[in-house]
Amino acid sequence: MHLEVNNLYKRFPTRRGSLLALDNINLHIEEGEFVCAVGASGSGKSTLLRLIAGLEMPSSGEILVDREPVCGPGSDRGMVFQNYTLYPWMTVAKNVGFGLKLQGISTSERRDRVAYYLEIVGLSQFAHALPNELSGGMKQRVAIARALASRPKILLMDEPFGALDVQTKEMMQQFLLQIWEQTGTTILTITHDVEEAVFLSQRIYVLSARPGRVREEIKIELPGERTQGMRRSPAFQQYK
Ligand code: ADP
Ligand code: MG
Repeated sequence: MHLEVNNLYKRFPTRRGSLLALDNINLHIEEGEFVCAVGASGSGKSTLLRLIAGLEMPSSGEILVDREPVCGPGSDRGMVFQNYTLYPWMTVAKNVGFGLKLQGISTSERRDRVAYYLEIVGLSQFAHALPNELSGGMKQRVAIARALASRPKILLMDEPFGALDVQTKEMMQQFLLQIWEQTGTTILTITHDVEEAVFLSQRIYVLSARPGRVREEIKIELPGERTQGMRRSPAFQQYK
């Protein structure tokens, strides 16, 4: 997959006129890349992700997924939010499978995928638990399994570990890297935590605030074994 954001502007109406939240954003993300965008609170990170997810319309500019313009949400983009957004009345398995049902995927395929992705996130034993019975880190793993289950071309994460304590957050960061290596999924994670961005990603876009603008692009040299491990992984080959 290939994500391209060209000359993206987003203006919100306000009582006294309007607020420019995104001011000419340009991004390119290639197949299999793990990219982070960092910025202070109010720099337009969530707005950018919501636009890419198709939950909001740009004021101008374009967003292309595999050279097709984004118009509305789609199963090619999986979304993970900071506050998990699980349905509290549905079991873990139902939460993971619900979107697949909406996509019209057959019952047996759904069952297979739910089992597969719950195993990937290490929560097979919790398939029948309710979200409230899980810790924050586990809830976020359910949300990640749910996002992966529809086999998106790109995983979009909005401050995914912001609500977790430091120890859980570090575990989840390790875990997300494993998922990336195992599945080869393209990932764009938004965070205000520069250390997190450096730890996770191969490339970082730095956004400045008021209005949100790409100030800088930083490339991170990965330790060789990380990328090679990913390419060797049978799951990665299968996924492609
Ligand atoms: P971040 O996620 O980086 O903290 P946001 O994307 O949430 O930033 O917000 C960027 C700016 O856009 C902020 O000034 C915020 O108040 C404004 N904003 C975001 N969503 C809306 C909205 N729906 N209506 C009006 N203003 C908004
Ligand atoms: Mg935000």
